[in-house]
Amino acid sequence: MYDFHIHSDFSMDCKYLVEEMVQGAIAKGMKSICFTDHIDYDLSGDGINFEFRPADYFKKMRQVKYRYMDQVEILAGVEIGMQLHLSDRCDEFIANNPFDFVIMAVHSIDKKSIHTSRFPNHMPPMEALSMYYDYLYRCIDIFDNYDVIGHIDCIDRYFDDRSMIPDFEEYLPHIEKVLKLIIERDKGIEVNTSGMRYELGYYNPKIEILRLYRDLGGEIITIGSDAHSPEFIGYHYREAEKLLRELGFKYIYIYRDRKKIPIQIG
Ligand SMILES: [Zn+2]
Ligand SMILES: [Zn+2]
Repeated sequence: MYDFHIHSDFSMDCKYLVEEMVQGAIAKGMKSICFTDHIDYDLSGDGINFEFRPADYFKKMRQVKYRYMDQVEILAGVEIGMQLHLSDRCDEFIANNPFDFVIMAVHSIDKKSIHTSRFPNHMPPMEALSMYYDYLYRCIDIFDNYDVIGHIDCIDRYFDDRSMIPDFEEYLPHIEKVLKLIIERDKGIEVNTSGMRYELGYYNPKIEILRLYRDLGGEIITIGSDAHSPEFIGYHYREAEKLLRELGFKYIYIYRDRKKIPIQIG
């Protein structure tokens, strides 16, 4: 099992030490894990950034990598929160650090955190979805230094009333545009299993999006739990793998030193 989306206390929203997360991964029998701690500049426009010091991060990553090498492979990645005005800054940060893997995610739109503003509840639902997917599209269009897009449809999480989420067919054109661009740029997506924890009842992205991605020719896909605590490492991994197999995907991908490696789905 290969969990490629894990946080530690290098992320502002996670209190568990790297070692505690590694112990969790060993207990779950993971083969490889990749830490993807948060870098989110200008999350809310109040000057608060989610960031870590790369020197400390890579020092810790090297320590655990060698200490636990007989038990689990440990890779060092990042989940970078993209916004249109940040592309140069993020590019420089990634280029200057030896990450194995980079997830790009949209957590804020023009310095407004989706998590705190919860904007989907304050406008017509379709308007909220188009705003998010069109922003994501523009981020993918201007930024290239990443490997996969994280939790593509996580916008669903922020509808207080989930019954307000429009039917997939209604916003299909927006998501299709996003997926086509990802494929055209030779990037991938992740299956983020945390949607089950957030009681969405599905992974991010949902089955319809995974199917569309496959139909459009998308192949590059990683699996990540987005665990912020040890017990969620590898959460729903086998189920996600099974779903991908049923959808016709032959491989999941892992990354070392920013190079993608296909792993046949068992
Ligand atoms: Zn995220
Ligand atoms: Zn995450």
